[in-house]
Amino acid sequence: MPSVLTSVPSPVSSPVSSLRCRECSRTYEAGPTYTCEWCFGPLEAVYDYEAVAATVSRERIAAGPASIWRYAGLLPTTRVPALDLGAGFTPLVRADRLAAELGLGELWIKDDTRNPTNSFKDRVVAVALSKAAELGFRTVACASTGNLANSVAAHAAHAGLNSFVFVPADLEAGKTVTTAVYGGNLVAVEGNYDDVNRLCAELAGEHPWAFVNVNLRPYYAEGSKTLAFETAEQLGWTAPDHVVVPVASGSLLTKIAKGFDELGRVGLLDGEPAVRISGAQAQGCSPVAAAFAEGGDTIRPVKPSTIAKSLAIGNPADGWYALDVVRRSGGALAAVTDDEIVEGIRLLARTEGIFAETAGGVTIATLARLAATGVVRRDERVVAYVTGHGLKTLDGIAPRVGPSATIAPTIDAFHRAYSTHILEARP
Ligand SMILES: *Cc1c(COP(=O)(O)O)cnc(C)c1O
Ligand SMILES: [Zn+2]
Repeated sequence: MPSVLTSVPSPVSSPVSSLRCRECSRTYEAGPTYTCEWCFGPLEAVYDYEAVAATVSRERIAAGPASIWRYAGLLPTTRVPALDLGAGFTPLVRADRLAAELGLGELWIKDDTRNPTNSFKDRVVAVALSKAAELGFRTVACASTGNLANSVAAHAAHAGLNSFVFVPADLEAGKTVTTAVYGGNLVAVEGNYDDVNRLCAELAGEHPWAFVNVNLRPYYAEGSKTLAFETAEQLGWTAPDHVVVPVASGSLLTKIAKGFDELGRVGLLDGEPAVRISGAQAQGCSPVAAAFAEGGDTIRPVKPSTIAKSLAIGNPADGWYALDVVRRSGGALAAVTDDEIVEGIRLLARTEGIFAETAGGVTIATLARLAATGVVRRDERVVAYVTGHGLKTLDGIAPRVGPSATIAPTIDAFHRAYSTHILEARP
């Protein structure tokens, strides 16, 4: 079968030749591996920043593709821009009306609903599948809370790779249909995400498959850095003062921090990045926010129960690292209720015309909470990451949103409805 991946020559040597253990710093060859054999710590991609600094520039980035691949020099694969469905380079929208409601000053929304499969997962998947092809895999797989499933299925279809996607059986229809349509194998597992993930870790030991968030996790995770790269570029190569990031496994949050840090290291930023990083969770699955509130270091696993299913990871792989990043940056973590999540979705839609999924509701509700408590300040330049589209999670809010009135097709019926209960002017 022809593959768009194999037909593209490698333009540069990989900026990543090794992986390093985040705990004991032992290094490994950059293959399909993710834990340290010595201490079982997670492995992370290592870059030669001096070499990167010598080759990247603002001009070269500006001349690159309108996707994550404009930052190829800081991504861990040579297959650039081989697998490009158009992930990334999403709008950064100035949100003055929302800022006014929250009592904030300069607020921006990074609108990552506008990706090929409508979530930020397209960033991590484009990187992971490019790496999978580079390493010679023919079959890709993942454990997913929904959005990753969509993205792996779509990118695998585009690349001519086989796919096996594992999800909890109780997923929203908006996420199963939008995965199955791409024609790969979709396996619904009777259990929650943590069960699915455990199963996939076992399968990864048995099958020669590239599990994007298991044995390719060190590469996959790097794709999230592009949210920091784009934010800085869109703000004229400056870093914001404070960002609010949704937390599931915690990977996204830690990689946004790493992204700003790397821009500083390779000389692409005006000034030093000093970004406060705050994390957002749903109360029904908030192990990292709970540890923050207690002031402790232990992340205690929970059984998730929330409408924010894309964030429902009860035992977050990068939870401790996310907690550490938040604390050291001077940010905070908060957890919001399902009612607040729905209100957050409606608030963003009503003020800015952006329809977010439940995870976006978590972010906006957390931003509102942190603004009200003075953690996010009026004098800060703030960016909130809205990571998925509302059409995928209609089940979560449908009971709360509907027509203002249902009427017979007559003028009288409209007037009656108008005078009784509808159509008050916008505030
Ligand atoms: C996966 C996901 C996240 C967070 O992912 P991490 O596991 O913390 O990296 C945030 N928002 C949406 C919509 C997601 O699908
Ligand atoms: Zn180690």
